[in-house]
Amino acid sequence: MGKSIPDFPYIKGWVRTSLIDYPGLIATVLYTACCNLRCPFCHNPELLFGGEDVDSIDLIEILNFSNLRKGMVEGIVVSGGEPLLHASIIDLLKLLRAQALKIKLDTNGCFPDRLQEVLHLGLVDMVAMDIKASKNAYDKATGIRHLLPDKVVQSLQILKSSNIPFELRTTIIPDFHTKEMMRDIAEWIAPVDSYVLQQFQPEDTFAPDYRKLKPLSEGELISMKQIAEQYIQNVSIRGLH
Ligand code: SF4
Repeated sequence: MGKSIPDFPYIKGWVRTSLIDYPGLIATVLYTACCNLRCPFCHNPELLFGGEDVDSIDLIEILNFSNLRKGMVEGIVVSGGEPLLHASIIDLLKLLRAQALKIKLDTNGCFPDRLQEVLHLGLVDMVAMDIKASKNAYDKATGIRHLLPDKVVQSLQILKSSNIPFELRTTIIPDFHTKEMMRDIAEWIAPVDSYVLQQFQPEDTFAPDYRKLKPLSEGELISMKQIAEQYIQNVSIRGLH
């Protein structure tokens, strides 16, 4: 009898094929439920508290996905929620690793010890980490009172000391990310190879008030990018339609 595959009930979302979630690769994307943060602009609010109203997805179904079997998928993205919140994410990544596909992990940077373990075990090929705000505005950006970004600082240090590619990204929130804050963030995270400014999407945000906000115009985002470019060479904008 074959080895049984353990359950990962926190796998609550699955986009079978994506061209935008793993730079340069066709990927399948898994979403894990639960997050330690409460970012008001979060657009996966149904997953924040554990996604009890959302059915779990059986890992077997994902592993049997025909495009994965036929080699039409090149990578797997593990996103959330916050994947590193779950201790058994290590087991999940090991099982995914056995698929001989590239693996990218999305994280909010709050679990540096687990990130270190993942990297030490060689379980991912790329990490994308959120930088929510400048250091002194992390509490407001994440909806967690008095939150200091110490763990994020540690995670950034771990990524910088590793030899795997990583991407830092900030969703630019209207009336919150000022030019001064952009400068503070870029100064903090530099030097880094790649930094992405993501366009804010007002649909279905966790905080209802944020649904009324008008995203920055293309010109305003380009101004933000130019500020970041004073510190970081490779800055891009994602999500402009
Ligand atoms: S946007 Fe914030 S609250 Fe939502 S999943 Fe990401 S880190 Fe968690």
